[in-house]
Amino acid sequence: MNGELHILGCGSALPTFQNSPACQVLELCDKSFMIDCGEGSQIWFRRMALKTARLYNVFISHLHGDHCFGLIGLISTFGMMGRTQPLHIYAPADLERLLQPWLDYHCEGMSYELIFHVINPRKSEVIYEDRTVSVTTIPLKHKVPTCGFLFTEHHRDTEPIKRYAYCSDTYYTERIVPVIEGVQTLYHEATYIEKYADRCRSTMHSTATEAATIAQKANVGQLIIGHYSARVDDHTEFLIEAKAVFDNTIMAEECHTYTI
Ligand SMILES: [Zn+2]
Ligand SMILES: [Zn+2]
Repeated sequence: MNGELHILGCGSALPTFQNSPACQVLELCDKSFMIDCGEGSQIWFRRMALKTARLYNVFISHLHGDHCFGLIGLISTFGMMGRTQPLHIYAPADLERLLQPWLDYHCEGMSYELIFHVINPRKSEVIYEDRTVSVTTIPLKHKVPTCGFLFTEHHRDTEPIKRYAYCSDTYYTERIVPVIEGVQTLYHEATYIEKYADRCRSTMHSTATEAATIAQKANVGQLIIGHYSARVDDHTEFLIEAKAVFDNTIMAEECHTYTI
């Protein structure tokens, strides 16, 4: 499929029965791109019947556990399944060093090659490019070095090219607006509602209102919100606050697929 976004996890750091931690798979130009890989992502990957053979590239926004604790399980399972295609992982510098002892212990003699690419979350640059798609980093503002990712198709006959921006996790920052200007779909974290604005600031996240404000300022086509705090039981509260600012907002849900 082309131009589809599968949500595998749209919760945040504290596990809940309602949500899994961050993970999504973007299908663009007949390729699959995994974005973040929270704990349990491989379960949703199989439940949604996504194809491992199309997945060559995983992009990790930052090294908080809710965005990368699922990687070692995914890597190990791919090995047990006899995968032979290489898997490229794009992540901040420390990831390979942190994973290496686990890889040495659990994944010795694996049937496929893992290739780490170090990204610099402090500047916007192209980190992936093939004939049909490129991926550009979007520097974000968070407690640890963090970047989002902008996926851009190169060509599309008659129709406008598709652009999809992923921004999680981040303090409110208008610095990203020029980078994501006019994308058809923006996924922006909305960890808190206004009631928890103080906590939102101290943990360097965004509220639903702030996510919608960024969507409005960047003149995007649609906004998908996620990365919900465990403190909010009723997720429609996120949607109501976001829609008050930017009407074309969708609330992400696990196991759902959205057209970007
Ligand atoms: Zn997070
Ligand atoms: Zn984080």
